[in-house]
Amino acid sequence: MKQKYRITLLPGDGIGPEIMAVAVAVMKVIATKFDLEFEFTEALVGGSAIDATGEPLPAETLKTCKESDAVLLAAIGGYKWDNLPRQQRPETGLLGLRAGLELFANLRPATIIPQLIEASPLKREIVEGVDLIVVRELTGGIYFGQPKGTFTDEQGSTRSFNTMVYSDWEVDRIAKVAFEIASKRNGKLCSVDKANVLDVSQLWRDRVTLMAKDYPNVELSHLYVDNAAMQLVRSPRQFDTIVTGNLFGDILSDLAAVLTGSIGMLPSASLGLKNPGLFEPVHGSAPDIAGMDKANPLAQVLSAAMMLRYGLNQPEAAGEIERAVNHILESGYRTGDIMSPGMTLVGCQQMGELLIKTLTS
Ligand code: NAD
Repeated sequence: MKQKYRITLLPGDGIGPEIMAVAVAVMKVIATKFDLEFEFTEALVGGSAIDATGEPLPAETLKTCKESDAVLLAAIGGYKWDNLPRQQRPETGLLGLRAGLELFANLRPATIIPQLIEASPLKREIVEGVDLIVVRELTGGIYFGQPKGTFTDEQGSTRSFNTMVYSDWEVDRIAKVAFEIASKRNGKLCSVDKANVLDVSQLWRDRVTLMAKDYPNVELSHLYVDNAAMQLVRSPRQFDTIVTGNLFGDILSDLAAVLTGSIGMLPSASLGLKNPGLFEPVHGSAPDIAGMDKANPLAQVLSAAMMLRYGLNQPEAAGEIERAVNHILESGYRTGDIMSPGMTLVGCQQMGELLIKTLTS
């Protein structure tokens, strides 16, 4: 019997619907090829949800997401909604979605695609062969720690503070995700902290070290975050899987993304324990090119591949999509954002057609 999956599609705003259409077309071909069945349900989030219902994350959308096996999101936001109060902003919908699905692990791969190596701001010999993933804790640490606030002290100075706090179980659950991923990749995990200064980082390091006993096939190392930032720029090939807390992960995942040089190519995944995962490109809704057939759909398509690998446990199907993307780039086709001399410029739709042709030939 065919393996059946319910997938919620959230096309969102701007270029979202265009790039989502390409990803869905690709998924339909994959379903036929791998004898899978995808039941797609579309729901509203972000600006389009505000226009239709007055809220960026309607309760119906969250319910639909929770009832599915995975959620594929494109992007949200745009000029039209930029001046609304915070509670009605598209971004509030995205944060609500992450919180509502209790997604505590954010996965951001940074892979140098050989055909796009010139797009990297770093020298070829430094970035050639880079293939790493940053696993960031997403719901704890200093962004959510209590107490926090602003007050006036006895001398009349205004003081503000936040609390960086992790519980042992929070470190354990993100470390487990990272060890599992590392064991399916190259078996190397680097945990990043600031244990030379921060008590909370010492707990982080102790718990990660303890968990290493359960994964004898994974080689664990530790780096302080300042050194990790330096190493990512100086010698990024040494990394395979990186695990770190919310604040350090926010910064390091963007740093790692820049190594690849092309935002239209980067997928991401956010995972929880009991709810479906959320898979989305790293880029935004690109309102400047929306509706012009100029968007690069590959980050969206690669997000669908991540959904197959990490959300639905279908690594062969994911690999098939990734190979098709590489083949198209190898053949010299480029959207405007990754265009270089001598290549063939295509639009979003044509890029999709080329992918389908590759997958069906
Ligand atoms: P952006 O990523 O949307 O765009 C930055 C630049 O990259 C633009 O020039 C855009 O045209 C280009 N670009 C982005 N994705 C592209 C693609 N797939 N193909 C070709 N070119 C692409 O970031 P921004 O301009 O800072 O934000 C625009 C809107 O997106 C804002 O409303 C912002 O809040 C929102 N946003 C949403 C998300 C999300 O949904 N996760 C993330 C970031 C920004």
